[in-house]
Amino acid sequence: MKLSEYYLPTLKETPADAELESHKLMLKAGLIRKVTAGIYSYLPLGFKVLKNIEDIVRQEMNRAGAQEIKLPIVQPAELWRESGRWDDFGPEMFKLADRKDQEFALGPTHEEIITDLVRNELNSYKDLPLVLYQINDKFRDEIRPRHGVMRSREFLMKDAYSFHESQSSLDETYQDMYDAYARTFDRLGLDWVAVDAPTGLMGGSYSQEFMALADEGGEEIVLCDSCGYASNVEIAEYETSPDDTSTARKEMDKVATPNKETVEAVAEYLEVPEEKIVKTFIYRTDDGLVAALVGGDDDIEEMKLINHLGTKKAEMVSSEAEIKEITGANFGSIGPVGLDIPVYADKDIKTMDNFIVGANENGYHFKNVNWGRDINNMEFINLRKVHSGDSCPKCGGDLEFHRSIEVGQLFQLGAKYSKSLEGQYQDRDGELNPYIMGCYGIGISRLVPAVIQQNYDESGIRWTESVSPFSAGIIVLNSNEGRTEEMGESLYDSLQKRGYDILLDDREESPGAKFNDSDLIGLPLKVIVGPRGLESGVIELETRDGDQEELKVEEKNTEAIANKLEEKLADTVELR
Ligand code: ATP
Ligand code: MG
Repeated sequence: MKLSEYYLPTLKETPADAELESHKLMLKAGLIRKVTAGIYSYLPLGFKVLKNIEDIVRQEMNRAGAQEIKLPIVQPAELWRESGRWDDFGPEMFKLADRKDQEFALGPTHEEIITDLVRNELNSYKDLPLVLYQINDKFRDEIRPRHGVMRSREFLMKDAYSFHESQSSLDETYQDMYDAYARTFDRLGLDWVAVDAPTGLMGGSYSQEFMALADEGGEEIVLCDSCGYASNVEIAEYETSPDDTSTARKEMDKVATPNKETVEAVAEYLEVPEEKIVKTFIYRTDDGLVAALVGGDDDIEEMKLINHLGTKKAEMVSSEAEIKEITGANFGSIGPVGLDIPVYADKDIKTMDNFIVGANENGYHFKNVNWGRDINNMEFINLRKVHSGDSCPKCGGDLEFHRSIEVGQLFQLGAKYSKSLEGQYQDRDGELNPYIMGCYGIGISRLVPAVIQQNYDESGIRWTESVSPFSAGIIVLNSNEGRTEEMGESLYDSLQKRGYDILLDDREESPGAKFNDSDLIGLPLKVIVGPRGLESGVIELETRDGDQEELKVEEKNTEAIANKLEEKLADTVELR
């Protein structure tokens, strides 16, 4: 492509409404433009990058034996009602009606559509396993779209779905998908890690997220540097330390704590450390009310309660009137003693004894409370948020927090959708069974900013070779001087003929402007054709990382020069 003809509007100023570097650079380098909140257009350069990523994802899916299809974006509400997710998805789903008032959704994901597609024709164990995938736009009315295409409302996803007759067959395909993801993210040049993940709205029994490590723009994950244990914070496990300080149980005692409503205030008033207090919260779940207990200086991780109970939601009761009705007291004085609902306590506080809880009477607490004797109908579970420095559940090493961007996720769905949508096959004994399913997503459009977030400097983007929109840029200096222009053009022609995708900067701009644009759009290699170089018989090569080299060009024949250049290119860039 000749830059003089290319639609590449770069920006000199940094856009004011972009916080994250990848977002700023995608706007500055002319990759995307905003239409409205969370909705973007891709310009030629951005679309090329998107396609490069899409191609790698497609190659690895095909290599793993998945078959490409294309499913509709407009999806009838009935299918979502059949699975029960029309309501569960809530306001994140874009909903619309046709002229006959039939309701539809713009697909946020495609489990319902694909199960409906196969349920009439995938009817024998002989047809299983099967893996289908598509690369298609998804629509989610995100509550907070941000960072450009990192979290947008319309985005490109690769989504694959697999159908099996047994868990072991699902396990095999799941591993194949894991391997395909690993190859995909390696080929993109990403620094990534796979973490254990909650299954959330997708449902199912097991899931992993693929996270691109990035200090900014992502969410926290927990990693063990010793053994590689890696988890989403919401479900991260930790090892509790055995207690060796247990003391004799004292008699439980009710003490006045007038107007002391926080852990801090009660601890100060009773002259005990905050660690002596157990906090109580009441949650409303699909199966009714439960109490959740953590140490005085800890916080509850709601997902852990949800996962343990297998409920769709757990909402903390937060109105004074309701809490009073349930416990008999205001928030500051509630506790588990005598409560008539199931109690779940964090396993880390199991070793506590003679501790303090609210007495379910305003202005009172119990002290010297002990498990078993004073609190019944209870269970210890993994409930609190993990801390940096907690012990690793696998090896006892130190857990640390890292920030990262979710670029893909694998789910073992089990029979959730095949049961609700009646997707069945005949097994070897002639019995009808629901398929065992898996689903596997990659955020193709999010991968563009994710790659940039790991590869930029103060001058601009530094594309990894496989993602770069062009293999190299030829920069012609003094392009109105016939000789450099001619040399630039003929090098460009012969390299293009050899299959390299080259960007020729043939504009009548200053050398400084050309170098700045080249660094901003981040091509891995610059080939600089300037009058002084040509006089002394050299063409300069410079990588985006700043490594320089001179290519001797004694021969006048550009084919011979292109041969030499091709040798260099073959070392540096991948032939597309
Ligand atoms: P998130 O937690 O970031 O909202 P998700 O877990 O809801 O994502 P999945 O249903 O797992 O998303 O979708 C598969 C992949 O699609 C994600 O791993 C992510 O890379 C990408 N993705 C999800 N939502 C968006 C979005 N709003 N914009 C861009 N990419 C997205
Ligand atoms: Mg996800």
